[in-house]
Amino acid sequence: MEIDLSPLDLPEFAAGAVWLVGAGPGAAGLLSLLALYALKQADDIVYDALVDKRILELARPGCGLHYAGKRGGKPSPQQPDISNRLIELARQGKRVLRLKGGDPFVFGRGGEEAQALEAAGISYRVVPGITAGVAALAAAGIPLTHRDTNSAVTFVTAYTSGGGLPEDVDWAALAKGSPLLVIYMALQNLDKIAHRLIAAGRPRDEPVVIVSRATLPGQRVVETTLENAAADAKRAGIEAPAVAAVGRTVRLKRAGL
Ligand code: SAH
Repeated sequence: MEIDLSPLDLPEFAAGAVWLVGAGPGAAGLLSLLALYALKQADDIVYDALVDKRILELARPGCGLHYAGKRGGKPSPQQPDISNRLIELARQGKRVLRLKGGDPFVFGRGGEEAQALEAAGISYRVVPGITAGVAALAAAGIPLTHRDTNSAVTFVTAYTSGGGLPEDVDWAALAKGSPLLVIYMALQNLDKIAHRLIAAGRPRDEPVVIVSRATLPGQRVVETTLENAAADAKRAGIEAPAVAAVGRTVRLKRAGL
C-alpha cells in the first residue's frame, strides 16, 4: 500500500540539511509519518544499532546507508566522528537522515549532534520519536500515569559511558520525590539502584517491571519487586535493550499480557 503524504503539507527536506529523527522503540508501525517521509526522501541515512532493519527497507532505493552503532566486539564510532560524518554529508549537498532509536533527544546523544550541526552552520530539524520508556510500559499494558497512583514520572538512565551510575542523579531525592521511575539502560546497575532506592525509603516489595525488546518480536516482560529485580532479570535471562519501571502503577498491569 502506497501512502500519499502530499495532503499533509509536510516540510521540505532540503538538500544540505540534516534531519535528526526518532525511529520509535522498534516496531515499524510506530514510526511517525514525518519519519516515513524522511526515509522516502533522504539521500543518506546514518542509523544506530537500535533501528530495526525492516525500517531501513522503507528507504528510497539507492539511498546511502551508514551504520553508526556498535559492531560485534569492535569499538563503536566516537560521537565526534558521527557528528563529523553528518556535517560532511550535508556539505556535499545531501539530504541527510540521522535515524536514532526512540526519541533522538532522550538518552540518545542527539543533543550533542544538534550542537555540532549548529556550530557547523548546517540547517537541521529534529523529529521526535516514541521513546522506549513510554512504549515499553504501554506495550506491557501499564499506564505511565494514573490518577490513583502517580501524577509524575521520572526518566532516568542507569548507565554512563564509564559504566557506572550517572553522578548527577540524586537517587535518594528521586526515591522520595518520584512515584514512578522509568530506568533506561537498566540491566547493568539494577542491583545498585534498587539498594539506593530501598536505603532511601522505597518499600522492598514495591512492584517493578522489566521490559526488553519492547514492541519487537521477542518482547519480554518480567514482573518483580525492588529487592528481587536484579536477580529475577538475571534468572529470566533478560537482555538489552530493556527498561525497568519502579512504582505502584506497575501493579495495574493488564492481566494476561
Ligand atoms: N533514544 C532512545 C534511548 C536510547 S538509550 C529512546 O528514546 O528510546 C538505549 C536504551 O533505551 C536501552 O538500553 C533501553 O533501556 C532503551 N530501549 C531502547 N529500545 C528499547 C526497546 N525496544 N525495549 C526496551 N528498551 C529499549
